[in-house]
Amino acid sequence: MFESLSDRLEGAFKSLKGEGRITELNIATTVKEIRRALVDADVNYKIAKEFTDKVKDKATGEKVINAISPSQLMVKIVKDELVELMGNEAASFNAKGAPAVILIAGLQGSGKTTFSGKLANYLKKQLRLSPILVAADVYRPAAMEQLRVLGEQIGVDVHLELENKNPVEIAQNAINEARSKNKNVVIIDTAGRLAIDEAMMTEVANIKAAVNPQEILFVVDSMTGQDAVNTAKAFNDRLDFSGVVLTKLDGDTRGGAALSIKYTVDKPIKFISSGEKMDTLDVFYPERMAQRILG
Ligand code: GDP
Repeated sequence: MFESLSDRLEGAFKSLKGEGRITELNIATTVKEIRRALVDADVNYKIAKEFTDKVKDKATGEKVINAISPSQLMVKIVKDELVELMGNEAASFNAKGAPAVILIAGLQGSGKTTFSGKLANYLKKQLRLSPILVAADVYRPAAMEQLRVLGEQIGVDVHLELENKNPVEIAQNAINEARSKNKNVVIIDTAGRLAIDEAMMTEVANIKAAVNPQEILFVVDSMTGQDAVNTAKAFNDRLDFSGVVLTKLDGDTRGGAALSIKYTVDKPIKFISSGEKMDTLDVFYPERMAQRILG
């Protein structure tokens, strides 16, 4: 994950190795390399610039004390800024309710259905809850079938209505089913489109209005770089979601989405998904991610 960004940052810090102290000149050179590395990792220029301006301010005037070298000092400053950029603390996730309703939204192919399965599996195994999955994509029978298969695989009930073309009704019926079966979490997998589309947004907004979810998770493919951030903005403007799920972190992702989304929409990343298997879901911790980026 983020290999190229990690290598480039390491290269930037290396330029400080052997320097006895932090100077304006060596800060400027390092900071410039860090900015280039971020931009090449698909971080928006404005965010990268603001980031490196902060790093520069912090580094300027810092004294290199005994054990810590200029390069170690710079690594620490960059790490602290990365953590802050990604939201500092791990965000809370609210799965309490009678039942708790969680709405999953995003573009087609982003990994919504796979994530819905993984979330149900996580809630069942890690939090000992009893979730139910809802197939609310009424346009693609294949998506319903995919969810049914995942549900079977993880031993979670899937609410399916093959003949019903009204996703709001399906969601409401599923909540009633959950109540009658004593299930405490309802995960609604909505329909996506290949690109931002007014009809899709209206449909998800209608489901939101009807079921009043306590979490709306926006799922985005981290491989899509700056597009991921633009898509997040469009969904957030319309849905005011509560958190982001970054998928496909097992692929050759450059890192831009992970680093820019919180800044752009001011919503936390809550989960990261890295694989097609049901147990490849993790709660997102900014500190751990920063550590991984810095190697
Ligand atoms: P949806 O259209 O948003 O519901 O997306 P799907 O859940 O059907 O996922 C689209 C494709 O991406 C499928 O082939 C999934 O197996 C794959 N996929 C989903 N999440 C991940 C992930 O975290 N890593 C990888 N490598 N593939 C994923």
